[in-house]
Order: sequence, then C-alpha cells, then structure tokens
Amino acid sequence: MVKPDLILLALDDSPLLQLMGRALRAAQYEIAVVQDVASLEKALHESSPALVLVGEVFAGEQGLKLSANMLERFPTLPVLLYSEKDTSGLAKEVLLAGLSGYLCPPLRMDDIVEAVNRSMARARSLGDWLRRQVKMTTASLEERAKLSENERSRFEAIFSNIQDGVIVLNRENAILFLNPSIHDIFGLGSNDITGKPLLEVISHPDIRTLLTRAAGGPLKYHEINLDNGQVLNAQVTPIPGIGSAITMQDISYLKELDRMKNDFVHTVSHDLRSPLTALLGYTELMDRIGPLNEQQREFLQRIQSSVQHITNLVNDLLDLERIEAGFDTRRESVHIESVLKYTLDTFENQAHNKKIALVPIIGADIPPLRANPIRIRQLLDNLVGNAIKYTPERGKIQVGVASRDRQIILQVSDTGPGIPQNEQARIFDKFYRASNVPDGAQGSGLGLAIVKSIVESHHGRIWVESALGKGTSFFVVLPAQDA
Ligand code: ADP
Repeated sequence: MVKPDLILLALDDSPLLQLMGRALRAAQYEIAVVQDVASLEKALHESSPALVLVGEVFAGEQGLKLSANMLERFPTLPVLLYSEKDTSGLAKEVLLAGLSGYLCPPLRMDDIVEAVNRSMARARSLGDWLRRQVKMTTASLEERAKLSENERSRFEAIFSNIQDGVIVLNRENAILFLNPSIHDIFGLGSNDITGKPLLEVISHPDIRTLLTRAAGGPLKYHEINLDNGQVLNAQVTPIPGIGSAITMQDISYLKELDRMKNDFVHTVSHDLRSPLTALLGYTELMDRIGPLNEQQREFLQRIQSSVQHITNLVNDLLDLERIEAGFDTRRESVHIESVLKYTLDTFENQAHNKKIALVPIIGADIPPLRANPIRIRQLLDNLVGNAIKYTPERGKIQVGVASRDRQIILQVSDTGPGIPQNEQARIFDKFYRASNVPDGAQGSGLGLAIVKSIVESHHGRIWVESALGKGTSFFVVLPAQDA
C-alpha cells in the first residue's frame, strides 16, 4: 500500500485545528501536529512532510517569517498559511514569501482539502520538472565527459602511433606526456615519469641547449646527436595555457646522405685538380708550337676561361671542405679595415663600369681580429663581389665596419633586387641560388656557404636582411682579438 502523504500542522491549539485534522484525515492524509518551533524543526528534518500548514502566528512567532525560513532550506516544500482575517495585503505578502497559498475563515472541510490538494499537485509537477531537468543535465554532463574521454584516448592513440618523438611539457619543463617513440629513442623503459623535470629524465646536453634556446629567443630547434650515431631534429612549439611540445624527427639518413655527398664532392674535386691544371698548361703552350689563326685563338681563349671557371669552382669546394673540417687553423692579428682596402681596390673597376657608388664607412678605433687574413679577404671579396654582381647600374653599395663591446660589425648593404623572404635562410646552403637571380648573373651558389664557414670558424655570426626590390644587407659580427 502506498504510504499516505504527511501534512504537518503548525497551528496553535483551537477548534479549527481539530477541524483541519479531521478534514485532512478524511481525505486520506496523515497528520502530524507540532506545538512549538523546535518540534516543527525536528519534524521537518525527520519526517519529510509533503506539506506544512502554518498559523499566521504560531507559538508566538510570525507564520510568514517561519515559512520564509523553511522555504530557504526546502525550496520545493509547499507551505500554506492560515490567517484569521483576509486582509487586503495578505495575498501579496504570501506571494512575496514564496508560499503556495493561504486559508482564511469561513472554512469548510472541502475548502481545506481542496487548498491542500492544489498545493500538493503544484509541488508535484514542480518536483517532476526539477527531476527531469536534473536528469537531462546529468545526461548531458555524462555525454560530455564521455566525449572528452574519447577525445583523450583518440589523441593518445594518435601520439602513440606517431613515428616522431613527442614530448608535452608544462611551463616548468616537467613532463606531461611522452609518446612511445621517445621511450624507445632514449631507452626510458616503462617507468611512469609523468610530472618529473625533463632534464632529470633525459639529461642530454643537446636537450638542455634546445630548452635554453627555446626559452631565450626565436630559435626553437636544435639537433640532438645520440651516442649511437643517430641524429634527431628537435623543435619546440609553445602551447598557450599548457607549456610546450617538443617533436623530434630522425634525420640520420639525411646526415648520411650529406656525408656521402661531401665525400663524393671531395673525391671529384680532388681528382679534377690535376687534369684541369694540365688542360690550362697545354692551352697556354698551343700558341708556342705554331702560329694560330684568329678563330683558333678565340676558341682557345674560351676553353681557357671555361677551364678557369671549373678550376675556381673546384678550389671553392676544396676550400669549403677544409674550413668546415677545421683544418684552417692559421690565426694572426688582422685589421679588417686594412684588408677591406684591398677588396675595394679589386672591385673599384667593376663598380665604376656599372656606375655603382661603392662607399666605405669605417668607424674609429676598430680593434684587430684574431683571424686568417686570407679567409677574411675571401669573406669580404665574396660579400662585396655579390653586392656588385647583383646590384643594377647606378646603384649604391655601402660597406660599414664598426666596433661595439669588443666585437667587430661588418655591414654590406646594396640597392639590388633583394632576396625573397622564404629563401633567405637557404642562401647560405651550398649551391643554393635564389629564384630571382637576374639573367646573366653567373655563379655557383658556393660563395655564401664559404663566407658562413669562415665566419663560424672565427666564432662569429652572419645574417641577412633583405626586401624585394629595395636591397640587401649582410651583417657579420666577429669577436675582437682580445674579446
Ligand atoms: P652565387 O655564386 O650564386 O652568387 P652565393 O652563395 O654567393 O652564390 O649566393 C647565393 C645566392 O644568394 C645568390 O645566388 C643570390 O640569389 C643570393 N644573393 C647573394 N648576395 C646577394 C645580393 N647582394 N643581392 C641579392 N641576392 C644575393
């Protein structure tokens, strides 16, 4: 049998209380009568009434105040107020306090039961609505939780199957996630290392350099050289709100290809040297063994110029190899501004022929370099030579030498065609020529590779700033002798 609903009567003793009790019992409600506020509180907590009927004044307290207090704690509990008089403001007060309704004499038993039934029905539908809302909200939360869980597993599956190594770090460089490739590469085993500082888990000097670089400047990548010969290219990408992600690709095969290419170039250049010298020698002898006609002489000159061209190329390649291998160890005190004078003399004629203004700007008190003067000359010749080669007629070239903080700064600026932004990083690569080299500007793409090797072997830095159609500036910074 269904338990009858309990109606709590908080009314001072009176014949009306008896009437109400009788009417409600007859309507199959269970009745509990409380006589003071303490028992009202107790009954509210212990017997969960379905409705409370409060007298306008109950046990010396204001019924409206008691009701407001009850509704604050049990907002869905229907509360009816009994008042002796139906004053004009009563309905408003009842409404403002959030009660379900009120009863006033004259009262018949039917009126009492009907008012209670109505309030209970409203409370029931409110309860049903609330339950439905809670159910819907719970379902949508569950759905969302399921979705984000699904997403998490999907991401984990993707990262776990990626061949590249992936590390996700928080802002303090502690590990949030590592994929299996990283475990394999660094032999980390299966221990859970989440939350530990990356450098504690992988204490590789190249990883340290990578993190320092990423923290301190725009360079976010570094090569990681492992003891087993494997070479990885690692990049750091900041992740807003989380920290950063490091991705690593195995570039060992590219390094191997590079080595093979260098070996090949070395062998070919080396083996070409002697036959080229012989060729040049014999072409020079031709004139001596018998008279040549005009056309023969012209052809011979063309052969000589081509052979000279190949010889220069071979010499450049061998030079580059020597510098890169660290065999270029000659060091002495060199005044760059003095070497620059020779370079400017050499190119004076070419600049003059193209009506280019070649302007040196030499600062005061330039300290000497500790360098190989031949390489410094080669560096200046290449940069100034390129500026003249690529700058159209009537252009301007400025060659500045200055010193700051025990460093020598060389700047070669021209008003030439500029270098496309996306190619600027590659012009220092061997054999690379930008896509906008003007027709007729001959070259092998080795000059800047040589310049860069010279700068690096002297512990300096080189970079380019260039805008299409406006011009190009090359900057070289070299440490002074006593720096
Ligand atoms: P190259 O023999 O082609 O001059 P470099 O290694 O000296 O080879 O230069 C590489 C490329 O860089 C050039 O082919 C050219 O596209 C570009 N470059 C170098 N210097 C300049 C410059 N001053 N102005 C415009 N482009 C330049």
